[in-house]
Amino acid sequence: MAELTHSVADMIDHLGRLPGIGRKSAERLAYHLLRVPKTEALALADSIRSVRENVRYCEQCFNLSEGPRCLICSDPRRDSTRLCIVEQPRDLISLEQSGMFQGLYHVLLGRIAPLDGIGPDQLTIDPLVDRVRLGAFTEVIMATNPTVEGDGTSLYISNLLQEYPVEITRLARGITAGSVLEFTNKEILADALNGRQKL
Ligand SMILES: [Zn+2]
Repeated sequence: MAELTHSVADMIDHLGRLPGIGRKSAERLAYHLLRVPKTEALALADSIRSVRENVRYCEQCFNLSEGPRCLICSDPRRDSTRLCIVEQPRDLISLEQSGMFQGLYHVLLGRIAPLDGIGPDQLTIDPLVDRVRLGAFTEVIMATNPTVEGDGTSLYISNLLQEYPVEITRLARGITAGSVLEFTNKEILADALNGRQKL
């Protein structure tokens, strides 16, 4: 019994470290997992294991991928003249759901945030510059979040890319300043893509 108590306490502790999950929610989830059929609880455990063992970042764009290159980079039908820059894989998914963009992506894996100690060298900016230098892109679309840090990141990158013969645009401001791409609905994202402006 002491053993069980210990392992339940351990699970509550792990659940409680997830974002947005406080102590009370962690307890509720733990007791839920003890109550559901064993197969259901173990399926969750297996899916966490599978994701962590099989999913990595695409070697080209840093999207999530189960192979060296993600499904988008491996798709020959994508327009390799347009490159859309986003902060996180979840932003890429939001843009994909809008169905308006057929080009390729580059995921920064964050944004420049001096107050949090995150500088340009902690993002995937070097490989991005290499891609633009070596690639056949004619347009680079900045789709960082419309926040102070997202705008700062976009400005930093567009300065770095000035020397290459690409047109640099950004999403139209249909998206409310300060909002986050992943929570913006797909119609607004589609408008933002269609109405993109020269930076
Ligand atoms: Zn990729």
